[in-house]
Amino acid sequence: MYESTRGNYPDQTGREAIALGMVPVGGLFVPKEFPKIHWEEIRGISYPELAQLIFKHYLPDFPEEKCVETSEIYTNKVFDTDNPAPLVKVGDMGVLELWHGPTAAFKDMALQALPHLLGESMQVLTHTDEVLILVATSGDTGKAALEGFKNVKGTEIMVFYPEHGVSTVQEQQMTTTDGANTKVVPVTGNFDQCQSAVKEIFGNPDLRDKFKEQRIAFSSANSINWGRLLPQIIYYYWAYLQGMDSQRIRPGEKMNVVVPTGNFGNILAAYYAKEMGLPINNLICASNENNVLTDFFNQGVYNRNRPFFVTSSPSMDILISSNFERFLYEVSGRDGAKIGKWYHDLQDLGEFTVDADTLAKARKAVTAGWADEADVLRVIQSVYKEYSYVLDPHTAVAVKVYQDYVKESGDNTFTVIASTASPFKFAKTVLEGIEPSAITDDEWTNLRKLKEITGWSIPKGLQGLEDKETFGLEPVRPEEIPGLIQKVYTSKR
Ligand SMILES: *Cc1c(COP(=O)(O)O)cnc(C)c1O
Repeated sequence: MYESTRGNYPDQTGREAIALGMVPVGGLFVPKEFPKIHWEEIRGISYPELAQLIFKHYLPDFPEEKCVETSEIYTNKVFDTDNPAPLVKVGDMGVLELWHGPTAAFKDMALQALPHLLGESMQVLTHTDEVLILVATSGDTGKAALEGFKNVKGTEIMVFYPEHGVSTVQEQQMTTTDGANTKVVPVTGNFDQCQSAVKEIFGNPDLRDKFKEQRIAFSSANSINWGRLLPQIIYYYWAYLQGMDSQRIRPGEKMNVVVPTGNFGNILAAYYAKEMGLPINNLICASNENNVLTDFFNQGVYNRNRPFFVTSSPSMDILISSNFERFLYEVSGRDGAKIGKWYHDLQDLGEFTVDADTLAKARKAVTAGWADEADVLRVIQSVYKEYSYVLDPHTAVAVKVYQDYVKESGDNTFTVIASTASPFKFAKTVLEGIEPSAITDDEWTNLRKLKEITGWSIPKGLQGLEDKETFGLEPVRPEEIPGLIQKVYTSKR
């Protein structure tokens, strides 16, 4: 069963938690307990088998065939490699490449599975013909969600992205989506404003009722939805198995994990894996210049009243990390009242301060660091020079924080770096690191230059994108979002 982080809602089954997306009165669904999976039980199994096992543990209310069906996406029919998440040796690091899916970012690992999970979950919704999936994106979730839900029966999907906050490639990926049920809307604001607007719609009972009359229910494809987080647990186990198979980890020995972090979803999945018994030593949270989380781990104050930076790692340009609420829930001793108060403070005052005990537990569970824009370029350059390996800017943030960590701690535990995007999604920045003289004003030329220089191939999902027809809607202001969705979805009936 699943409970609310704010102790304000009855427990729900897996299907209910996924169908609802988030707690309708505010708060997020979290598992009441973590099933244990020991590495010895799973040695030698395939990725789909591992996925199936983890789905079954967390979704006992799902029919077995549904878990099997969902796990079957993790093959080379959907991913461009036989291994959907290879662990590549780069110096002393293990780089876990999570970007071999259709949109070339790690979001595919979960968003290819979510339509299957949500399809099953929708059966618990009575008086509903259609689910409207509302997505706020800092760049990568949008396209991955559009691809996952494109032309899926019984769903409509609308994606909101910050007009000037995503890369050229990300924007073109989203606006060229040609599904009959897909809509893409630029917002004149930043990601936090998009996300807040979407969350407010979820928490608005009048709007919910209005849509209910039309037999439409809202759901979410953001990582506030449990169905997004669950599939992300799988690849941390997978990384460990590969580490053992390649003799970089001795059986039972612990590994470190570094995750480039925005909304705190990916790193939370690693934390949950650790709670399930995966031998993880240190979890390292890497931020870019929007380092609200680093400050939190240093001071115990979460303060979003600060300048917002548009960086070369746009998917991490976030000041309100939604899933951090789930993490605090665990380290505060599952105190829903405390969480409720902190998150009301965040909404009303823009900040909250946790008690000393919660901070101590948080610091014990996670180490945090950050990288500035110059660090990112330097790391892309040095890793390319030394290992001929091409990092995207998000992964470069993680590598910089890893290097700092090793310097400060002297810890030589084998470390997995979660690599979250293909470098071709951010070709200009990557060229700036490895061959600045090759940069042109045209991003599509930059992609081809990057290919020529590195000999790496452009992911299939990014090929020919520049010539495709676009279908994006006109930009709206954040406060116009509720009006827009009413106009689009309730007037057509
Ligand atoms: C979404 C994203 C992140 C941040 O992941 P969270 O789960 O939001 O912390 C990092 N890198 C890339 C490339 C992403 O798309």
